[in-house]
Amino acid sequence: MNYRREFLKKTGLAAMAVAMGQDLMAAGTKPVTEKSLTLSKKKISVDDQWDVIVVGGGPGGCTAAISAAREGAKTLLIEAMGQLGGMGTSGMVPAWCPFSDKEKIIYRGLAEKIFNESKKGVPHENKNKLDWVHINPEYLMTVYDKFVTESGAKVLFFSRLASVEMSANDTIDALIIANKSGLTAFKAKVYIDATGDGDLAAWAGASFKRGDENGVVQSSTMCFSFANVDTYNYVNGPNLHTGNKNSPVFDAVKSGKYPLIDTHFCNNLVGPDVVQFNAGHLVNVDSTDPWALSQAMITGRQIAAQYLAAMQEVQPRTFGGSFLVKTGSLLGVRDSRRIEGDYIFTEEDWVQRRTFEDEIGRNNYYIDVHKVNGPKEAHYGHYGKGESHGIPYRCLTPKDLKNVLTAGRCISTDEVSFGSLRVMPPCLVTGEAAGMAAAHAIKQSKNDVHKVDVQFLQKRLKEEGQYFL
Ligand SMILES: Cc1cc2nc3c(=O)[nH]c(=O)nc-3n(C[C@H](O)[C@H](O)[C@H](O)COP(=O)(O)OP(=O)(O)OC[C@H]3O[C@@H](n4cnc5c(N)ncnc54)[C@H](O)[C@@H]3O)c2cc1C
Repeated sequence: MNYRREFLKKTGLAAMAVAMGQDLMAAGTKPVTEKSLTLSKKKISVDDQWDVIVVGGGPGGCTAAISAAREGAKTLLIEAMGQLGGMGTSGMVPAWCPFSDKEKIIYRGLAEKIFNESKKGVPHENKNKLDWVHINPEYLMTVYDKFVTESGAKVLFFSRLASVEMSANDTIDALIIANKSGLTAFKAKVYIDATGDGDLAAWAGASFKRGDENGVVQSSTMCFSFANVDTYNYVNGPNLHTGNKNSPVFDAVKSGKYPLIDTHFCNNLVGPDVVQFNAGHLVNVDSTDPWALSQAMITGRQIAAQYLAAMQEVQPRTFGGSFLVKTGSLLGVRDSRRIEGDYIFTEEDWVQRRTFEDEIGRNNYYIDVHKVNGPKEAHYGHYGKGESHGIPYRCLTPKDLKNVLTAGRCISTDEVSFGSLRVMPPCLVTGEAAGMAAAHAIKQSKNDVHKVDVQFLQKRLKEEGQYFL
């Protein structure tokens, strides 16, 4: 049940929350215009030295760039922000989803290496912990910097994909990138879409789905952190997560004094006296609409401020002296375009724990959907010890495009199974496979990602340590 929605309805505060930009789709922020303009300065410079270009430097894009480069491809990673890590750093998501199947680690290869290295940024965590390990975002950025640069891949920050030029209906010729140089065309043989939103593939004409049958997506969250928390009281006080039915968050929500907060309240000690939160919801934000995103950033910061005031009231000994030290530079977007591949991973595949001939790794995360009337975790349950399902290579190959792969959360799934495959450990795994496959496509199949030798890909992934049954 969405306690907050119910509460708002009862108290008549729902209208106010919408007015404050909570239901951002409904707010209709996109300006409508029929007007157009033809660019007069059509000639732009070209950088065509690349074998593989990856757009988006989140978990999926980082492992894609690292593995493409290690496989011998001259690789460029283009990122809109000034740091790598996507939602795990710029978006301030404070914990890794479980890496184990409750017996052993199952996201291996580059995923395991990055995960292990990131643990050095949270030395207060048990070294052997595999599940829900906290993230120190500043440290994780440097881990990605190190892995990507050491692989030989080049990184271009503050550079945003603005448009895609096609040489045929199914083939990308160049990416138009906007940055401080203005517009530049970047050319490669194979491109990897790791934008999370699937910008690259969608703009190249790939078919995709978004959210449910009405296009309604999972809620977003603005993550944030408090500094100067009293760590002793935090650690020894009540569990604040609302898995604890006595969490003081319930009192704060019930009080009605903080209308923007709700009972989604994950919190992690990420360093001395610093607690980072994945808390609150922004309903149905269209992350491909810059106006909706802009409003969500503003409302998200208001939500964070209300959580601080609420915690200072209900847990004064822990949070009385704390302050809001940082909010995400990226909105925490859970749900956006799912680019349709040669195969769409389904709810039934997840339920049956299916294994595939062309799988490139395994996943066992539960169906985690943040939507009032969305698929329910309780309905699907969690996998048991040692259980996992395969991730088919065909989910990374957009069916309409020849020289494009997807990595991370924009791969090909249905709405339900997306709730599982969207989190960081499987994103790291799909990234590594996509990067490797891109390099193989250049050598094996004239850049056609659909004709890659999958057995060879699996052999190489195994050599790099990836887990298969
Ligand atoms: C609030 C929230 C909580 C979560 N909690 C957890 C959790 O506890 N544990 C966990 O493991 N996972 C969690 N997840 C899921 C996980 O963080 C993301 O799904 C995952 O990071 C997706 O990885 P990605 O590489 O596909 O994309 P992202 O991490 O979204 O990264 C995409 C990158 O692409 C860049 N980009 C986008 N468009 C362009 C463009 N046009 N040009 C250039 N660059 C572009 C962005 O700046 C960004 O850096 C959470 C997600 C959210 C939103």
